[in-house]
Amino acid sequence: MAIEVVLTDHTTDPIRTLYTAFRVCYSSFTPSQIEARIESERISRQEMQEFIEARLATGHSSPLAQVWFEFGISGVTRAFSHQFVRHHIGISFEQQSQRYVTYKDGTFPFTTPQSVERAGKAEVYNRAIEAAGAAYLELIEAGIPAEDARFLLPNATNTNFKVSVNYLELMHIADQRLCTRAQWEFRKVVSLMRAEVKRKFPEFARYLQPKCGEFRLGYCDESFADWEGCPLGRKRPHKSTLFELYERSKSGALGDLSDRDYQAIESEPDEKSDKTRSQAF
Ligand SMILES: Cc1cc2nc3c(=O)[nH]c(=O)nc-3n(C[C@H](O)[C@H](O)[C@H](O)COP(=O)(O)OP(=O)(O)OC[C@H]3O[C@@H](n4cnc5c(N)ncnc54)[C@H](O)[C@@H]3O)c2cc1C
Repeated sequence: MAIEVVLTDHTTDPIRTLYTAFRVCYSSFTPSQIEARIESERISRQEMQEFIEARLATGHSSPLAQVWFEFGISGVTRAFSHQFVRHHIGISFEQQSQRYVTYKDGTFPFTTPQSVERAGKAEVYNRAIEAAGAAYLELIEAGIPAEDARFLLPNATNTNFKVSVNYLELMHIADQRLCTRAQWEFRKVVSLMRAEVKRKFPEFARYLQPKCGEFRLGYCDESFADWEGCPLGRKRPHKSTLFELYERSKSGALGDLSDRDYQAIESEPDEKSDKTRSQAF
């Protein structure tokens, strides 16, 4: 069964919600005054988007949890679902039950990994699946409840989800599961979730990247060997490069702070730096 991911619902207007959430933090206006300014179009969508972009470049992340997305996910395996439900902050799951859903004829939807096909082992694989299905059916026909007969079902068995997840957690899941170190099925599902968000809200999908992405960490924090083997072609520096820079700095190779630097520290802020500061939390 093919994997299917559909964005079934979402925060009505994510740009408006996220703008208001951030704006409340940085404005003397009340939330209702901010809403009224949006309603009267005193704040344009362009301005809202620019304000959000600037905030996303900072570490101020909690407003992102005010935007949510709902997905219908089907045709994934139990091997995937065990991993998926380990994410537990800012995400809610409903999953097809193997207690309440009985495979009455002993056949169940399942996935065959490409590695099995490539190795020419599909027949061995299918035999094991069929044997599990036949034994499952024998137990069901003997009156054993589905909740016990399911003990025989393999990790390859397909399952379905209805998921609600906030944008902050979706970014975190993308950080981890779009990384080439994550399992292929998980990468596929998160790629499809990203594609669904992109279809409706491309500006939100930009930030759904593996953790090494230019909008996320910007470097690889996996082991050096994993970085060397990553098919992304080392587009990002490995963390060891940053540590080297740190070591060079500590050993004085980057030069000491000069009198001129200390003058900059002592000086009064100018108009430009005032403006920068006023935008900071
Ligand atoms: C490549 C890879 C390999 C893995 N291998 C294994 C494995 O072999 N065995 C295994 O058991 N698991 C494994 N995992 C799962 C992993 O350990 C996490 O359980 C999973 O990725 C969920 O992520 P999370 O803890 O960030 O949870 P999320 O719910 O996504 O959490 C989001 C964030 O909330 C915060 N948070 C979460 N829980 C708490 C808490 N209790 N207290 C305070 N803050 C919290 C953290 O900042 C966290 O990053 C693997 C994951 C990956 C990506």
